Amino acid sequence: MAYGYNGKILRVDLSRKTISVDEPEDNFYRRYLGGRGFISYYLLRELKAGVDPLSPENKLIFASGVVTGAPAGGCGRNSVGGKSPLTGAYGDAEVGGYWGAELKCAGYDAIIIDGKAESPVYLWIKDGEAEIRDASHLWGKATAETQEIIRSDVGEQLARTAIIGQAGENLVRYACILNDVSHAAGRTGMGAVMGSKNLKAIAVRGHNRLTLANPGAVAALAKWLRDVVGIVMGGFSAQGTSVGLKALNREGGLPTRNLQQSVFEDADKITGRAMKESILVGRGSCYACPVRCKRVVSVSEPYQVDSVYGGPEYETLASFGSNCGISDLAAIAKANELCNAHGLDTISAGATVAFAMECFERGILSERDTGGLKLNFGNASAMVQVVDMIARRKGIGDILAEGVARAASRIGKGADEFALHIKGQEIPMHEPRYKQGLGIGYAISPKGADHTMSVHDSMYASEGPLLEETKALGILEPLALDDLSPSKVRMVVYHSCWQHLLDCLVMCNFMPFTYHQVEELVCGVTGWNSTVYELMKVGERCLAMTRAFNIREGLGRKDDLLPQRFFTPLPSGPLQGVGIDKDKFEQAKETFYSMLGWDKIDGIPGLGKLQELGIEWVFDYSGGEIGD
Ligand code: SF4
Repeated sequence: MAYGYNGKILRVDLSRKTISVDEPEDNFYRRYLGGRGFISYYLLRELKAGVDPLSPENKLIFASGVVTGAPAGGCGRNSVGGKSPLTGAYGDAEVGGYWGAELKCAGYDAIIIDGKAESPVYLWIKDGEAEIRDASHLWGKATAETQEIIRSDVGEQLARTAIIGQAGENLVRYACILNDVSHAAGRTGMGAVMGSKNLKAIAVRGHNRLTLANPGAVAALAKWLRDVVGIVMGGFSAQGTSVGLKALNREGGLPTRNLQQSVFEDADKITGRAMKESILVGRGSCYACPVRCKRVVSVSEPYQVDSVYGGPEYETLASFGSNCGISDLAAIAKANELCNAHGLDTISAGATVAFAMECFERGILSERDTGGLKLNFGNASAMVQVVDMIARRKGIGDILAEGVARAASRIGKGADEFALHIKGQEIPMHEPRYKQGLGIGYAISPKGADHTMSVHDSMYASEGPLLEETKALGILEPLALDDLSPSKVRMVVYHSCWQHLLDCLVMCNFMPFTYHQVEELVCGVTGWNSTVYELMKVGERCLAMTRAFNIREGLGRKDDLLPQRFFTPLPSGPLQGVGIDKDKFEQAKETFYSMLGWDKIDGIPGLGKLQELGIEWVFDYSGGEIGD
């Protein structure tokens, strides 16, 4: 008997209006675990190279992991993936809330969506039964209203929802998908893929609890987490993900004014504490998690902000705040609400507004281009208006809806110098001149700029509990923030593998579990005799698969780039004069490739490595591009 998973993957072809079920063998689950492992597996095997991400040929895959639905913190998430319309590369996003666990309880481990519906539809899944329903009455509606109507339509007030807003319908290239309207599958534009398929929502309800191999072991881990939350994560619970914003600013690591600076003079006004003392009205959570790091805010003046949409997390506070030169919390909260109502990724949306602001200040954009808006850094009201225009593709919003890379080439006049992206995806709110190992991770990530796939150097730059834990992987000494030596690259490699593993399990990155506890969790849920070694190999396997997908799509070393801005010294603050050394960075990339057994110059996984990872089949799906 299988524990931890249902052994069923739902297939929905919206063009043919067919629904079927795959039942993969048990070793499929053990080899790939779920999440990114499943998504990269199906994209490699079933997607033709070169398909338009917004065509019916693309796939949209919702995947849980083998631990999803286990009654322990961090185990309620799911991934959503496909070929990204923002990058043209491998794309996925991980999202919290309750939807992932509900899908498991409804009898499925993943859903693969193919084709395109003739008119808007939504998918309703309840206890193993799936049905495609008309969504004409929902098209154009905000996510909260859509959720309310769907729950009423299906007669289930506890149905969990994954919904797109107008941004997804309008194919904004960084549109996202909202779980329960306040948890975003934010990055790489999966909301646009969903919109391109005329799929407005997937609602799920399930009553079957996950069967665990060793419920006592899982309960012990859940209890350990509840017991230590107040001790090791008290600040995180109280102030949310922005608990470190002030310290980051003090150290010179807070993206400011389109990353021209790394210190924001008004940082105190956008911290977790400032939010707690002003607009915070509650804390939210994800399935079974005692941390409750999610924010719930409400504002009545000068903007109305509905608490149903939660509240801004660190990335949102920095992208619409410091990175746009804005310290008005109410305006940031409004931008967050608009993003969740319309289904926009807050990182890319904020970064795109910041790009437009820099273009405006440099005279590349004028009031004629912006419809009269004075789009200077610090103009909170203009920022809020532009976010709404992006979702609706109105005025300048239509160009900005394409993301900074495409927008810059349409604007011309040298705008590309200020379009900060990697592989087409906008930079998250972590300054790579401050955390230089993260810069390698940014450049090499299959998704383009992504802060969740690699090491955050500051956590391992001095002795402490995090470095102590990393010693279990053989990283024994602290490594300086600007170190790009092979020792640092080794840390980046190990962390990249581990982060890919967590995204196959689809576990929350914030859990304070040790490597050994994650191993215990997997064993407790599945009954397997898994080890940390085996789990690291799953992560490495997944990293090779996403790399192989991108190589097949024509990406390679030439795309593993950082914007020139990060090689340019910072002009002020504690990191004044610090830029990334380009030669050291290029050398570090080669070291990264070779440590993973990839071709040192081109970064292509070789056949021997694929064989060692047990995925030699990738060679047959590579179009002759990899595996020599
Ligand atoms: S730590 Fe926060 S994001 Fe992670 S599962 Fe718990 S509530 Fe959700």
